[in-house]
Amino acid sequence: MRFTPQDEEFRADVRAWLAANLSGRFAVLRGAGGPGREHERHAERLAWNQHLAAAGWTCLGWPAEFGGRGATLARQVIFHEEYARAGAPARVAVVGEELLGPTLIAFGTPEQQERFLPPIKQVTELWCQGYSEPGAGSDLASVATRAALDGGEWVITGQKVWTSLAHVADWCFVLARTEPGSRRGAGLSYLLVPMRQSGVTVRPIRQLTGTSEFNEVFFDGARTDAAHVVGEPGDGWRIAKATLAIERGAAMLGLQVGFRRELEDLLEVARHTAAGADPLLRDKLARAWVGLEAVRAYALDTLGGTGGAEASVLKVLWSRWHRNLGELAMEVLGAPSMITRAEPDDEWQRLFLFSRADTIYGGSDEIQRNIIATRALGLPRQDRP
Ligand SMILES: Cc1cc2nc3c(=O)[nH]c(=O)nc-3n(C[C@H](O)[C@H](O)[C@H](O)COP(=O)(O)OP(=O)(O)OC[C@H]3O[C@@H](n4cnc5c(N)ncnc54)[C@H](O)[C@@H]3O)c2cc1C
Repeated sequence: MRFTPQDEEFRADVRAWLAANLSGRFAVLRGAGGPGREHERHAERLAWNQHLAAAGWTCLGWPAEFGGRGATLARQVIFHEEYARAGAPARVAVVGEELLGPTLIAFGTPEQQERFLPPIKQVTELWCQGYSEPGAGSDLASVATRAALDGGEWVITGQKVWTSLAHVADWCFVLARTEPGSRRGAGLSYLLVPMRQSGVTVRPIRQLTGTSEFNEVFFDGARTDAAHVVGEPGDGWRIAKATLAIERGAAMLGLQVGFRRELEDLLEVARHTAAGADPLLRDKLARAWVGLEAVRAYALDTLGGTGGAEASVLKVLWSRWHRNLGELAMEVLGAPSMITRAEPDDEWQRLFLFSRADTIYGGSDEIQRNIIATRALGLPRQDRP
């Protein structure tokens, strides 16, 4: 990927806007939120996200007719890199903006687009993703949550799990079985369900970090309008897979800027402690630096590619890298890293603990390697047990 002089002007605009606006009441938000820290200053980050929206800095990649800027991938990368570089707080509306919005643009009816896209763009409605269930994670086609039509509404019953940010979401896109007796991908539908109703119970799950950012979600006769199905009823598997495949590469480039900051901070610790003189740790730190260069180069090289194994290779590369960084941080800190606190607020411990999730969410490493084996290496598909 190459950036043109016009792209660099765009970069200067983003940088100037962020410098001018991450001030006053928003100054305290620098560095807040993100994986393992979603509990931090949620209300203030929501206000910041709405401030971004009002200035046209949300949904950059959406086509202009749907309220976006139709920004090229290069400009999306620039935005996310500058955003991370400025230490701007993690956005609270990512699921709607990056997953549901593009899905509705591709598959929604004009009425659905008109109803749901503007509040995503303006950050007045937050979304969560209701796919995983206790019996359906990697094997997502085993979804058992049921939905049936009744008096012009879908009635939904079942349980989802690991639903990130469900406790603050207004809506959930739910994969549910709408054809009784159907199996696997057949007979599923993609429903848009309001969260704030008596048929929905959200129970936070306490994580290793001591905080809660994902939840169990129980649907007990929850209701949504019959028109709130994306694609045809029974065709939800195709839509659900399209959401999973939606390009998240541009945001990943921002993620790796955050990784770089973490590595820089760790190097700063090593420079001032005995770790910096330890030959084995010096070797590991140098490898970490090289590894991150490789992640960025691969991400830039493959951005926008579709259909191959690139997204899986990138996921394995960055998730392993980041998990290893958490382990390396514990080694650099040495014995004090083992002291636990009642509420771990130590950023290195939190990095170590939360990065264990990196190789699980968004498709586990084992599943990514299965995809690489079949798509890139031409090996036969694995037998289903
Ligand atoms: C931080 C976090 C946030 C999440 N947010 C959401 C969310 O917002 N919405 C949502 O719907 N889900 C969410 N998830 C769930 C996530 O998508 C699942 O955890 C993931 O798909 C794995 O499913 P599982 O947990 O059921 O594990 P399982 O599928 O039971 O897997 C258990 C282990 O077996 C391995 N395994 C499974 N099948 C195979 C196979 N065929 N070959 C080799 N190994 C295999 C897996 O790699 C894993 O190591 C989140 C998860 C995490 C950790």
